[in-house]
Amino acid sequence: MNKDDNNKDEFNIDDHKNTDHKDDPDHYEEICYLCRRPESKAGKMIHIPNQICICPDCLQKTFDTINKGDNPYMQMMGFSPNMMNIPNLQNEIPKAQKLKKKPKENTDNKVFDRKSVPAPHILKAMLDEYIIGQERAKKAISVAVYNHYKRISTGAHPDVEIEKSNMLMIGPTGSGKTYLVKTLAKLMNVPLAITDATSLTEAGYIGDDVESVISKLLQAAGNDVEKAEHGIVFIDEIDKIAKKRNTNSRDVSGESVQQGLLKLLEGSDIEVPVGATSKNAMVPLATVNTSNILFICGGAFPDLDRIIKARLNKQTMIGFKAEVKDKDEDDSNILQQVNLDDLREYGMIPEFLGRLPIMFTLEGLSQDMLIKVLLEPKNAILKQYKKLLEMDEVDLQFAPDALEAIAEKAMEKKTGARALRAILEDIMLDIMYEIPKDDNIGKVVITKEYIEGKGVPYIEMRGVGNQKMLAMNN
Ligand code: ADP
Repeated sequence: MNKDDNNKDEFNIDDHKNTDHKDDPDHYEEICYLCRRPESKAGKMIHIPNQICICPDCLQKTFDTINKGDNPYMQMMGFSPNMMNIPNLQNEIPKAQKLKKKPKENTDNKVFDRKSVPAPHILKAMLDEYIIGQERAKKAISVAVYNHYKRISTGAHPDVEIEKSNMLMIGPTGSGKTYLVKTLAKLMNVPLAITDATSLTEAGYIGDDVESVISKLLQAAGNDVEKAEHGIVFIDEIDKIAKKRNTNSRDVSGESVQQGLLKLLEGSDIEVPVGATSKNAMVPLATVNTSNILFICGGAFPDLDRIIKARLNKQTMIGFKAEVKDKDEDDSNILQQVNLDDLREYGMIPEFLGRLPIMFTLEGLSQDMLIKVLLEPKNAILKQYKKLLEMDEVDLQFAPDALEAIAEKAMEKKTGARALRAILEDIMLDIMYEIPKDDNIGKVVITKEYIEGKGVPYIEMRGVGNQKMLAMNN
């Protein structure tokens, strides 16, 4: 064989290789590596490395076999279904990443029937059952929520564009900001996501992106995009994203977060990961429109009172509103006089404030209000303890001066109504431990002395003629 022949052979082989490949679809069909059926019979082939093609049927069968875990080859190799934990994988992961399908037609107007949105006075009456005091805040939030859901339920008006009723709530710790929003979401039966602004940072930096807020809402709505689009987002500690003063570095957790939140507050399409808080290649994305999501921002704004006082004093010095100065010096609720200039000076950017058109304040809770918080709300802590002991047929009572003592202790902690639960849990631990020991106990009275650690609660025994007061052994 001469050299030319060799060349010819080589050429022929290469030529053959080229035409054998899928580049020449007219002449050759691809064949499934497993069932050997051609593409014309088995359907479009899926290409995997090493130039192997598999038909969709065989690929599906392979997945099914792996998922079932009863593959004889796997078992021969010593893999049991339990070892691989495949059934769990099947149950857990895909469900968390499933999205409820969105109905095709536009159902904006159907979700909230205008008549089903409670009128502001009804909404406020419902809030009254849970929240003590805060009359102005309850009124403001009821009107804003009513208007918001009315706006959603009636759809867009071509003549007047109704603005979103996003809110800014200012009030000291433990005054009921979070509780107010939680109660509201429960009453309105809409999903709620509560987020802490301190954990938010500009995209790309360590911390959560602002969009994670919407991701949480989607989770709260059971991955139902449509439900999430009518939900409420509460961003707590909003004062922590105030513009940082005297800083030379990039303000990634302050002003940048405010900037990032602008588009959410305003209303835009946001791509959020489903079943996870960060975007990556493994999680599906869903598009959520934020135009109808109600954003409520809340914060204690410590030291804001100084800014307000300084402004009021300046006005006094100039000569008008002369009576303000003395009156406000020790007014603990000076926050009520806040205006946009004060907040701007605090470090909130004007664009951000502009997107929170409803602003109201909550007052710090007084001792009397704390007693009411203990007693009156539908789910008051004392009612809960009473109910628990009632199940053991024991009557729990609190002496009036004991309630005062609890409220006084809570006031000292300066964390509003938050302190109440911790104090009560401490007090009630021994009671809840000791009472079930003795079936004869019929009544327990918590006294002031017991709260102050100087005495014991009174215990009344069950049965007529056996009503003696006993000191409890701690
Ligand atoms: P914050 O203003 O710091 O968000 P929270 O709303 O978290 O305070 O309040 C803490 C707890 O105190 C609530 O879960 C609630 O039980 C109680 N609470 C606070 N304020 C009130 C109030 N005005 N009426 C009834 N309960 C309240």
